[in-house]
Amino acid sequence: MKAIFYKTQRKRLLNYASLALITVLLLSLVVGCSSSSQSETVKESSQRPIIVQGPMPIEAEDFAQRLENVKKEKSGTFEFYIGTVDNYPVIVTKTGKGMENTAAATAVAIERYDPIAIINQGTSGGHDPDLHVFDIVLGKRAVNIGSLKTANKDENEGIDPTEWKPMDLMASEGSAGEDPNAEKIRYYEGDKDLLAAANAVKDKYTKGKVVEGTIGSADVWNNEVDRIKWFHNKYGTSVEEMETASAAQITKAYDVPFLGIRILSNNKVNGGEYNPNTAAANQKYVYEVVRKYISTLPSE
Ligand code: SAH
Repeated sequence: MKAIFYKTQRKRLLNYASLALITVLLLSLVVGCSSSSQSETVKESSQRPIIVQGPMPIEAEDFAQRLENVKKEKSGTFEFYIGTVDNYPVIVTKTGKGMENTAAATAVAIERYDPIAIINQGTSGGHDPDLHVFDIVLGKRAVNIGSLKTANKDENEGIDPTEWKPMDLMASEGSAGEDPNAEKIRYYEGDKDLLAAANAVKDKYTKGKVVEGTIGSADVWNNEVDRIKWFHNKYGTSVEEMETASAAQITKAYDVPFLGIRILSNNKVNGGEYNPNTAAANQKYVYEVVRKYISTLPSE
């Protein structure tokens, strides 16, 4: 009798134990799935993320700190802070400085995250004497100001940068050095919906003015005022920096809406000294632009 009792008791206990085990297994499966798929949140979400790029740590980390539910991924030297703004997926990319880093980080981001739009933002040097440190330029146009063809000169005829001509790398698949059609300025247009969102929140920025303009980019830091004026007159540049035109070129190749947003951290033309605090001020404004843009996207 006792033996039988113990047997049924044991059996019942075993049944409870296996039930508990199965529950635990199922639970861990569910939890495991949801935590391991955190990295896939963005990929699996039907909402395509907005990407916000910044070259230097001071030009990316302030925005990254504003993200919620952040997770970091790396590819090469490019860092992606994957998170949300107002429950919408947003990825901040620290690209590193310059045209090459930016082009590669843009292509990698497009292939990896299939963004709905990309904003490249950061600091810049003024070309327009009416713009001052802390003013912000919305890139209605971006242009590569390092893509140039020199004049034909023989030995001992010297160097004359004012004779250099713009060279459009996208003009044809033929030789840019021979093709006269390539001797023109290539402008990349900023996306009109991103521009509209940026203009709509202009008033939230109080440290300077926000204007539409032309962003010139090259792996060059121009400190010759006459050369800066030459670009300003010939290309209509408002500011120069080292990234926007590169991201503009790659986003155009993939047909992804794009806008450059650049704050003046310095302006040699009117004596504006470099101020690194501009980087954070710009990110604070771009955060408002992103929120506005999200609010204009059709809900699922
Ligand atoms: N001023 C510091 C760090 C800036 S390095 C120094 O001298 O070391 C260059 C970065 O600043 C690039 O990402 C570029 O986009 C931006 N930048 C700001 N002002 C610029 C200017 N006048 N010309 C070129 N790039 C500029």
